[in-house]
Amino acid sequence: MQWRVPLSDLDYGTEEKDAACEVIDSRWLTMGGVTQRFEEAFAAYLGIDYAIAVSSATAALHLANLALGIGSGDEVIAPSLTFVATANAVRYMSASLIFADISGENDLCVAPESIRAAITPRTKAITVMHYGGYLCDMPAILEIAEEHALAVIEDAAHAPGAELDGRKASTWGDIGCFSLFANKNLATGEGGMIVTDRQDLADRIRLLRSHGMTSLTWDRHLGHADSYDVVALGYNYRIDEIRSALGLVQLGKLETNNGLRRSLGERYRAELGDVEGLSLPDFSNRGVSAAHLLPVLLAPSVSRKTFIEAMHARGIQTSIHYPPVHQFTYYRQGGSTPHLPLTEEVASREVTLPLFPTMTDAQLKSVLTEVKTALRGAAPQ
Ligand SMILES: *Cc1c(COP(=O)(O)O)cnc(C)c1O
Repeated sequence: MQWRVPLSDLDYGTEEKDAACEVIDSRWLTMGGVTQRFEEAFAAYLGIDYAIAVSSATAALHLANLALGIGSGDEVIAPSLTFVATANAVRYMSASLIFADISGENDLCVAPESIRAAITPRTKAITVMHYGGYLCDMPAILEIAEEHALAVIEDAAHAPGAELDGRKASTWGDIGCFSLFANKNLATGEGGMIVTDRQDLADRIRLLRSHGMTSLTWDRHLGHADSYDVVALGYNYRIDEIRSALGLVQLGKLETNNGLRRSLGERYRAELGDVEGLSLPDFSNRGVSAAHLLPVLLAPSVSRKTFIEAMHARGIQTSIHYPPVHQFTYYRQGGSTPHLPLTEEVASREVTLPLFPTMTDAQLKSVLTEVKTALRGAAPQ
């Protein structure tokens, strides 16, 4: 399908091509000097002590749970309105996942009160997800975490560069996880970044990223080590130099591109804010968003299926963020399915519209026109 307006698109050009070619010419393909520079630049941008590049956000979330010592018998509280990887990372540890509800139709992030209500003596950690690039209510969530001595993991896959009270997403909790997947604000194809201010966690994560080995191929190449020991059961969650080079270029574009995303978001709001049949969540205007997604909620009387089919027929790609995790077959097995009324309500009416930094004025106007037409067709006659 050739979309007239895709849901998202890359901002890639000659800089990315040149950066990839430089790595190829250097003849050093995996974790080395470029990855180190990418990690340092990423940490400096966030204002955090340690950034560790990995193969995906899923790997980052797994390493976060591992480093915090989550295990069988423990409970981790997480939202259900998220990508399934947030939840899967808890299940990798054989820990129990306790789903919390969102705040409401205007704020699709996990609700602090719902987190508080889910705490038991077995709770070990809270994983939050900054939906669409808007930070969760981190001051309230950190207060709850401190009160109950719980660790906090931030799934910041939507939120590189987002901030609240001058503090960037991923720097609030114990560990932050980013995705560099092809459709994210900072894209390298596959890839992830895990960040923390705690040296003990950073050391553990570095070790587990590469087989629990005490030295890397790169260290031995530099003559820093001749052999190695294996001191933990690790994984291969490494990134490679080509993707780190792409990441460095994309990091340089992030602030500008997030600004473009936000202006497009404001134009959507100005044009669709008063349109009958849909609403745009404002996330309580918490902080500066990375504007990863443009979620709208259709009115209960509007048929989502008819609306989406009309948009697709006119060449406008849309998506749904997300089918709730607690309703997936795997998550329904062996236990009672929780009832999360706000998550279920919002998930049944949400549609994500195109938003990407290179979106043209003509593309935006097409989407706006087609939204209004599709709504007329999908509303009760
Ligand atoms: C994309 C995404 C992930 C997974 O990222 P990968 O890099 O593809 O593993 C995890 N959580 C959220 C919220 C995401 O949007």
